[in-house]
This record gives sequence, structure tokens and C-alpha cells, in this order.
Amino acid sequence: MGNTSRRSFLQKLAATGATLGLSPWTLNTMLASESNAPRVQTVTAGQATMLSTWNHGIEANAAGFLALQQGGTAMDMIEAGARLVEADATGLSVGIGGLPDRDGHVTLDACCMDHTGNAGSVCFVQGVLHPLSLARKVMEETPHVMLAGAGAEQYARELGIDQVELLTDVSRRAWEEWRKTSDYKPVINIENHDTIGLLAMDNQGRMAGGCTTSGLAYKMHGRVGDSPILGAGLFVDPEIGGATATGLGEAVMKTVGSFLVVELMRQGRSPQAACEEAVHRIMDRMPTDDLQVGYLALSRSGEAGGHAIHGGFNYALTTADGGSLIDATHG
Ligand code: ASP
Repeated sequence: MGNTSRRSFLQKLAATGATLGLSPWTLNTMLASESNAPRVQTVTAGQATMLSTWNHGIEANAAGFLALQQGGTAMDMIEAGARLVEADATGLSVGIGGLPDRDGHVTLDACCMDHTGNAGSVCFVQGVLHPLSLARKVMEETPHVMLAGAGAEQYARELGIDQVELLTDVSRRAWEEWRKTSDYKPVINIENHDTIGLLAMDNQGRMAGGCTTSGLAYKMHGRVGDSPILGAGLFVDPEIGGATATGLGEAVMKTVGSFLVVELMRQGRSPQAACEEAVHRIMDRMPTDDLQVGYLALSRSGEAGGHAIHGGFNYALTTADGGSLIDATHG
């Protein structure tokens, strides 16, 4: 997003901010189960919150709150935020402009989960500008959870989604430069524009999450990372909270990181403590000098946390009171 369009977008958001209607309220929910008589559970909801990875999370969250203001749900917040970043051709690791694999193909991965625990995912998909929207379609319109490669592209065509060239001049030149040596050394998180993982809670306490990426630059053709893998790059339990990951997907997948974070929250850990434990699980199991992973988590009560192996990972936290970038703790 260029400076001018970014400014006008933020001005628009500021103009509508007063009408967001984001004050908290209390829901009384009747719960019944076969073994228990119905009881009233008081759930504090209403403090809409959005949490997204990296600097681009600020704009993504702003787009999410705009969607909320227009009557959207938590899932709409996620999709709006993801679409903004996916369409930004200057980002080298999400959507158009993402760095290609070693053969010069930009292949995208994305997934989402909504407040009912429903999930959708696409992986190894080419020529689709908004893979997270395609993942949402898989979630909402098909009996499946995950579509891969040519099948996902075929489904996009059936939906009438235009094919786009995702390799930009900038990313092509970077790839051509890399090909001079073809030296494959994944250097993660040196630059601040990585996968975007997003977590949101709307005014009614509905939680959703999403994750979208072009994956590791110059990866082997066919490589799929953690980002579209439910439980690895993203997991949302609507009753507990959500978590998302960024960094070296192989390490996240081997430890089922986002599911682990949510399960730790279920056992009573704060989002911050849960992210720390999931990071330590990786640090305990593999050498991490050259490996970065960061987790973000948002609990059902609106508490946020983030932690990474190394410094440099940050995230955006936005509520009705505004948004800020937070440097994650590490180590
Ligand atoms: N987790 C992504 C992947 O491994 C990449 C990233 O977050 O930088 O594909």
C-alpha cells in the first residue's frame, strides 16, 4: 500500500472510529448439556480486539476494525485484514510480490478458523490474489477443510476468481539475483515483512483467526509450510482463544505450535505464558541459533501475548482505543 492510499485509508478509519460502538457488554448464555441442568454462564464480551503479526499488522487491524464497523463478524475482520496485506505488492512474503520458490513460482498458503470452530485452508496455490478468501470459501462452501495446488486453483476458477501474475518485477529480480548462487539459507525475520497471522474477537465475543503467506523464499517447489496447517500456523478454539505462528514453518509443524499454545491456555496459562512455553518446546528440541519462530495468542477474555525465539518479532494490538506495535519478548 503506497503512502497516499495508506494515509487516506487511516483518515477514513479515524473519521468512522467514533461510530464503532465498541463498548463492552455482558452476554448471558444458557448452557445445557446432557449431564447438567441448564445453567447461566456470564461471559464478558464486547471488547473487540485484533492482534496481527509484524508492522503490517497495524494496517491489517485497521482494516479489520473497519469491517467490524460495517457490521462484520470476527471472521470478516480477519478476511479484511488479510486481503489488505495480500494485495500489497511491496510485501515480499505475503500474496502478490511474495518471493518465489527456487524455480520462480510464487506459491501461496493460507487458512482460517471461525467462531464455530469451522476451518478452511488452501496450500501450494498459484495465481490467486487472495488465498485467505479462497480458504474461507473452502470452509463455508465445501464439505472439506483443505484444498491443495491445482485443485485449489480449479476451485478458484469455478468461483470466478481471476488468475493473476503474483511475481512482480521486484520479486523476479530478487529471484534472478538469488539464482546466481542458488545458495539456500533461509534467513528468517531479518526484514520486517513476514507471514501475517491474525486473531480477532468481535463485540459479541466471537473469535476467529487467519494466516496467509508466500512461505519461505526460494523453497523447494511443492514445499508447504505451517501457515495453512491447522494447529501449526493457526488454531482457534472459540471457547478458549486463538494462536498463530510466524517463522520457520518446519519447526512449528514439528511441535504443532498453535494448537499447543491454545491447549496451554485451556489449562490455565496466560496467552503470554503459553507462547513462551511453545517457543521453549522448540528451543528444547532443536538447535535454534539460525531459526526464528514467533507466536501470538489472544484469549477469550481479550488478553494478548507474544513471544519469539529471537528478538526482532513484533505484532500489532488494536482495540477500540487504538492500535500499537509491540515488540515481542524473546528467548
Ligand atoms: N511460517 C512461514 C512458512 O514457514 C514463513 C514465515 O512465517 O516466515 O512458510
